[in-house]
Amino acid sequence: MEKRLYQTVLGDLSSENLGHCQPHEHIYIVGTIDQEICPLICMNNLPLSAKELTLYREKGGSTVVDANPLATGRDALALQDISRLSGVNIIATTGYHIPKFYPADHWIWTAPEEELTELFASEITDGMFLEGFYARPTVRTDSKAGLIKAMITKDGLQDAHTVRMLTAAGKAAAKTGASIMVHTEGFDELAMIDLLAGKTGVDPASILVCHVDRQVEDLKRHEEIASTGVFMEYDTITLFQFHNNADELRMLRHMTDKGFLDQILISTDPETDRMKAYGSKVGIDYILEHFIPLMKLCGFSEEEIRAITVTNPARALSIG
Ligand SMILES: [Zn+2]
Repeated sequence: MEKRLYQTVLGDLSSENLGHCQPHEHIYIVGTIDQEICPLICMNNLPLSAKELTLYREKGGSTVVDANPLATGRDALALQDISRLSGVNIIATTGYHIPKFYPADHWIWTAPEEELTELFASEITDGMFLEGFYARPTVRTDSKAGLIKAMITKDGLQDAHTVRMLTAAGKAAAKTGASIMVHTEGFDELAMIDLLAGKTGVDPASILVCHVDRQVEDLKRHEEIASTGVFMEYDTITLFQFHNNADELRMLRHMTDKGFLDQILISTDPETDRMKAYGSKVGIDYILEHFIPLMKLCGFSEEEIRAITVTNPARALSIG
């Protein structure tokens, strides 16, 4: 495998050590306003979060992305401890999240684009801030983010806030060489890719389009998005309200047969009702324990599975 560089919460890593990697998980969220309305994101018990990743490592997991960015409950120091306790590499994210994570008077709603670009870029190059929930962050840790998170809602690019935030995140990605993962809700994905590639200069091969498997009906749309060269995140495995395993396997088979194997990523994007350590029957280890055996039963070869779970994330998450 070509040697590449990754930034984990405990320091740099090269691709030989990345191993099985799930690029969209949530491990630990603390101190965000949304926890009051949504108890399912109260994954704020450090030993339980470490246990969830220990179970993942015991099944063969090596690396995860924690997809909560700056000022949305991310805790860089807790992520360091969880990585040490579990033995799993954690790649943390900077950038911004869906609107419900920020109170109406949050500083992020009015921060100018240039300031946000600098802020996101500095979390990649200098280290993540410790706080930022209520006021602009000031305390920087020695733990660097390895990826930039962004989002578009169902309003797509009609919303000026989204355009400003997405542009800032794209410019930070172009500046640092970090990849950018974008939460999507089935609207305007192609316009989003256009904006990032055209206006901010991000290579589509550094864009991860999240949650494409929430939309199962129209596989032509999956093909259209993948044709731009981005990574396609089928990241709601175990979220059975959107699809069952048969649907998920059908999408992966379809995209593989259409020639997009090298762009497919899989993950579980959990809340606590899909984490074993927090009392659920399924956990972050579901892909290793149940889904990969199902892929084999359905005819996926060892090489195809390795591409999806090892070599594709290694290309998608490298810096530079
Ligand atoms: Zn997520």
